[in-house]
Amino acid sequence: MKKIYVIYTGGTMGMVPGPYGYEPKPGYLAHRLALILQNHPLKMHMTFNEYPILIDSSDLMPGDWNRIAQDIADNYALYDGFVVLHGTDTAAYTASALSFMLENLAKPVILVGAQISLYERSSDGEKNILDGLFYACQDSLAGVYITFGGRLLQGNRTRKVDADRFTAFISPNFAALVDETVGLTWQAPASPPLPALPFFYQSIKPDLRIVSCKLVPGYTYTLLTQLLAHPLQGLVLESYGTGNGPQSQHDFLAALQKAHHQGCHIINVSQCLYGKVSHTYAAGQVLEAAGAICGGDITLEAALTKLYYILSKTSDPIEQKTLLQKNLRNEVT
Ligand code: ASP
Repeated sequence: MKKIYVIYTGGTMGMVPGPYGYEPKPGYLAHRLALILQNHPLKMHMTFNEYPILIDSSDLMPGDWNRIAQDIADNYALYDGFVVLHGTDTAAYTASALSFMLENLAKPVILVGAQISLYERSSDGEKNILDGLFYACQDSLAGVYITFGGRLLQGNRTRKVDADRFTAFISPNFAALVDETVGLTWQAPASPPLPALPFFYQSIKPDLRIVSCKLVPGYTYTLLTQLLAHPLQGLVLESYGTGNGPQSQHDFLAALQKAHHQGCHIINVSQCLYGKVSHTYAAGQVLEAAGAICGGDITLEAALTKLYYILSKTSDPIEQKTLLQKNLRNEVT
């Protein structure tokens, strides 16, 4: 029988109504899950670890990625698969971070959440959690995934795109492994080759000065120019369309170039959901000329967490840049 390690970090699934709205309630999810599994044919040995402080995932900070990754690493040899019950708001960031931090991962790590608490009759939590446990039991899955609303998505390609619907997540630039909304059901993939090197976990430095900014017309350029005067270490720039920026905003471009020369790694990602940064327009050259790395079709979430990972892994700026340009975990096409 498979042995599955389940972590509950917080999030809607185990929340109950409180004086100010829904909030996590210690013990509630473990109790509900036991009832769900009592009469379910999916059989496994499960260990349930509820974190002492349950958070709404909008409170998530980079240090939380270390705690989850460390927990998985501590239990890696003892279990066949892992389920991380997580709020939906920042699940795509955590999935992306874990995909980098868990090196040579040969087992499934499945993130699961819900739009509606198990407390409500209309909750989507039961299906999502059962799907998560099912995928965590599969020998042929290795890596970090999110399952949600009948989809199984590669974690570092996902984005939360809907605040309300049960199909809250998509992976816009990479095919879903399962998408029951279009009749694509689970087919066990060929087992991935075992990693040549042993599993280990790379912690991240939570205090790195890494930020993300979105280009929008107007006063934002003035504010970004001021922001760039800070000693930043990493910046994900959400540019227009295929990676375009304002050719006319000389102060902003000069500040960007100065930040780059002072050692800030800048990744250019598109604010569009679909497609990629490429070099179609003259306007697309200005950010590159200022030192930005072309992010291709990487998501904002993957670009941001990749910066945390690489800047924590090595302090050599040349190696950092080389690794940032490389496809490490199939996060970019
Ligand atoms: N605000 C909640 C959270 O991310 C939303 C959810 O769980 O779906 O924790």
